[in-house]
Amino acid sequence: MRLLFQCTECGVHYLPPEGLAYADGSPASPLWCTEHQAAMRELGLTEPPAAAALALLGARQRAAAPPTEERPGRPDIRPTRTRRGATAPGGGRSRLH
Ligand SMILES: [Zn+2]
Repeated sequence: MRLLFQCTECGVHYLPPEGLAYADGSPASPLWCTEHQAAMRELGLTEPPAAAALALLGARQRAAAPPTEERPGRPDIRPTRTRRGATAPGGGRSRLH
């Protein structure tokens, strides 16, 4: 399963290889695209582990739940209002005999 990430620097969506490791063996960052990851490495910056874990979790959740998921609407159940007329008096005079 490949995960889609969004670079926190430039906002581009990128798809690192499966296993989060590039062809040269360097680990992919869930925070930065290849360009920014290289730029950060040159600057000597490492990704904050908490932010990286969060980005990884978010990507996994997105992969697990497709965006085209339909939300079932709640059926509109309303109590039907019945108007009752005056209850007819039962009985009355019976005309037996
Ligand atoms: Zn970037």
